[in-house]
Amino acid sequence: MTIYCLGSINADHSYKVARLPSAGETLAAEELITGLGGKGANQSVAAARAGAQVVHLGAVGADGGWAVARLAQFGVHVSGVAEVDTPTGHAVITVAPDGENAIVIFPGANRRQDPARIAAVLGDAGPGDTLLIQNETSHQEEAARLGAARGLRVVYSAAPFDVAAVRAVLPHVSLLVLNAVEAAQLGAALGDVAVPETVVTEGKGGARWRTGDDELYQPAFPVRAVDTTGAGDCFIGSLAAALDAGAGRADALRFAAAAAALQVTRPGTADAMPGRAEIDAFLA
Ligand code: ADP
Repeated sequence: MTIYCLGSINADHSYKVARLPSAGETLAAEELITGLGGKGANQSVAAARAGAQVVHLGAVGADGGWAVARLAQFGVHVSGVAEVDTPTGHAVITVAPDGENAIVIFPGANRRQDPARIAAVLGDAGPGDTLLIQNETSHQEEAARLGAARGLRVVYSAAPFDVAAVRAVLPHVSLLVLNAVEAAQLGAALGDVAVPETVVTEGKGGARWRTGDDELYQPAFPVRAVDTTGAGDCFIGSLAAALDAGAGRADALRFAAAAAALQVTRPGTADAMPGRAEIDAFLA
């Protein structure tokens, strides 16, 4: 079946600095790495590399042709990506030697999604298909409502955490995926609001799939991590790909944990997503 992803497309500018700058301070970076990023693009690439058919829904500015071309190179279908008259989103990422980072995001075109285009693309979708959404675009609620009405599995990564977006989107969601920080924010903000099936990722601590009072635990695979940026996106895209291919929960969690373990062993986000053969070999 098909995974539709309504998601952000960013230019990631990653600056290696001796330490994170303090307020009022100017620092020269030692190195600059630029590449494709954005939670949505990362998840689409992870799912496509993991073997799924992926249709990306997104928006870039006139300066974003390279990002769309990069998505297509990774095997993502890009006919649902529009060009709008707002600059492409970007992220300014400063990374300290200990791996600690500070990030500023300019959402730009990502906040200019068109509901008519979302409805047109999802018009081809039906039961068995998946819709992946995050919080870096606009129109998540419309997409989630439409996806649920058409019988899609709606997988929501509520990141960056935004209480208004979560409240609006949650009623239409089949599977909510959060990291540990977002899970704490959700608990504090929403209290006892009913959540659907939930996967909580805990970095090196692994991941838990909660259904009511049941819990499935998947440990992280021990690897030498060099860059954990995008680990969650890799996990979610790979998890969606495994579920789309018919895997049960335990197998899908194991597949996603293996993919994310491979991804953290190399630098970059979208560029670091592992392919299906590599993930299968890691698990063999
Ligand atoms: P996020 O990137 O959203 O903060 P996490 O840090 O929780 O997400 O990571 C998502 C998943 O990636 C984890 O559940 C784990 O399977 C895998 N992962 C993350 N960091 C590591 C690591 N250092 N070693 C092995 N696996 C990791």
